[in-house]
Amino acid sequence: MTIAPPDPRLTGLVTENTQLIGGEWVPAASGQTIEVLDPATGETLLHVPRGNASDVDAAVSAAAAAFPKWRDTSPTFRAGLLMRWAELIDKHEQEIDRLEISEVGRPHWGPLPMSRMLTYFAGQADKVHGLSLPTHTPDVLGLTLREPYGVVGGIIPWNAPGPNFVMDVGPAIAAGNTIVIKPAEDAPLTPLALARLAMQAGIPPGVINVVTGYGPEAGAAIPAHPGISRMSFTGSPATGSAVMAACARNHTPLHLELGGKSPQVLLDDADVDAAIPQLTRGITHNSGQICAAGSRLVVDRKIHAEVVRKLREAFARVRVGPGTEQVDMGPLISAKQHQRVLGYLKVGREEGAELVTGGGVPAGEKFERGFFVEPTIFDQVRPDMRIAQEEIFGPVLSVLPVDGDEEALEVANGTEYGLVASVWTSDIGRAVRMVRGLQAGQVAVNQWLSGGVIGAPFGGYRGSGFGRTMGADSVLSYTQVKTVSIRGTR
Ligand code: ADP
Repeated sequence: MTIAPPDPRLTGLVTENTQLIGGEWVPAASGQTIEVLDPATGETLLHVPRGNASDVDAAVSAAAAAFPKWRDTSPTFRAGLLMRWAELIDKHEQEIDRLEISEVGRPHWGPLPMSRMLTYFAGQADKVHGLSLPTHTPDVLGLTLREPYGVVGGIIPWNAPGPNFVMDVGPAIAAGNTIVIKPAEDAPLTPLALARLAMQAGIPPGVINVVTGYGPEAGAAIPAHPGISRMSFTGSPATGSAVMAACARNHTPLHLELGGKSPQVLLDDADVDAAIPQLTRGITHNSGQICAAGSRLVVDRKIHAEVVRKLREAFARVRVGPGTEQVDMGPLISAKQHQRVLGYLKVGREEGAELVTGGGVPAGEKFERGFFVEPTIFDQVRPDMRIAQEEIFGPVLSVLPVDGDEEALEVANGTEYGLVASVWTSDIGRAVRMVRGLQAGQVAVNQWLSGGVIGAPFGGYRGSGFGRTMGADSVLSYTQVKTVSIRGTR
């Protein structure tokens, strides 16, 4: 089956050269635009406004104007609007999916998670509780209120624009904040479509504002704006540092979701056949362009040869092509990322790693126009090599053989990152020790990622950032605590 390549204009959910400010679909104040490309062909999909600081300023003003009424709206009513938004996303799921396929280049990968995420946040909206506090004397009442911050800001990346948009907007507005959010310049269409559905759901104008544009222009203007009272950023470590520095100037709290170099640890008693499909998917899903990609395989030397042989076979079965075809892996997002990943393939060879499979651009006419690379395995990677330490953000797996559990743990923890980790073993005692020892915000046993878990908190240890999205306190994290004391005077 081939999914018809959508013309984004025909979905009715995105229109040429518009962003959302104060409920209006407007071009950039400068009138300038950015081309959004189809990464499978390099062709233009649509233009979006090239917003800058003046667009951000207008969006912050609109969000500030909408805030008092939204804050004072019954949280049960806010929850209802989020549910309505979720229903509309379900209704338009195919169009949204096609938009994301068009701009990211990924294949269809099953039901979209956005409506489920919104349902989860909606459920939390009217469960934002403060505390009653003990007092020294009975004539005083002490309590805490949890209040929204006001106008919050968000900057999201291009790799999963739909989920990333909802992950920031959902909890922020559920808690009563209003938001100014900037999608990535490479993939802004899905966020714009989702924002349109939010408006149709009845979320009031100004509650969600989407400014499109480049990072150093529109992006940098958000944390720099004094009207922003909480930030969230998902993206590269270097940009995260810049956003955090801008936040420091205004004392704006933030959370950062940065990169990863996530280990899949295979102990010598692992169920290898169960692991192989997930190890493969862990690095080829979205062409390796997810921060949680399982990019390092830390494998006990006793099973190393068998694992690498089976992985090579599994990688050979990965179908590569445009996301609109029935494939397992699409292109990379852009020429820039293509160059970057091809650069790492060269680095791996120069560092002396053994190329097992892949290592370049797939052969064939259809791969010439888009930004394709082959799924690649490097074996005999040493922990000090760049391909063992640096986030490649492509379908490149580094295999690091180790002797025993202790060395496995040391190597697994031996990068600056700590986003997710997996351990594969048949022994519960070894699993528990690894779970305790692995330095990551999410640890999975005998699977890649927290599949099957509802509302799993997501975020990093160490260089992968701080703060969590999803989770029982995702809406609470968009509130601040006010202590109230009341003394009865007679
Ligand atoms: P990548 O290099 O993979 O695009 P980035 O961290 O640069 O990763 O991009 C993530 C998001 O951050 C995008 O929306 C991008 O536009 C934005 N961005 C890039 N540079 C800046 C910056 N200096 N300030 C704020 N946002 C930025």
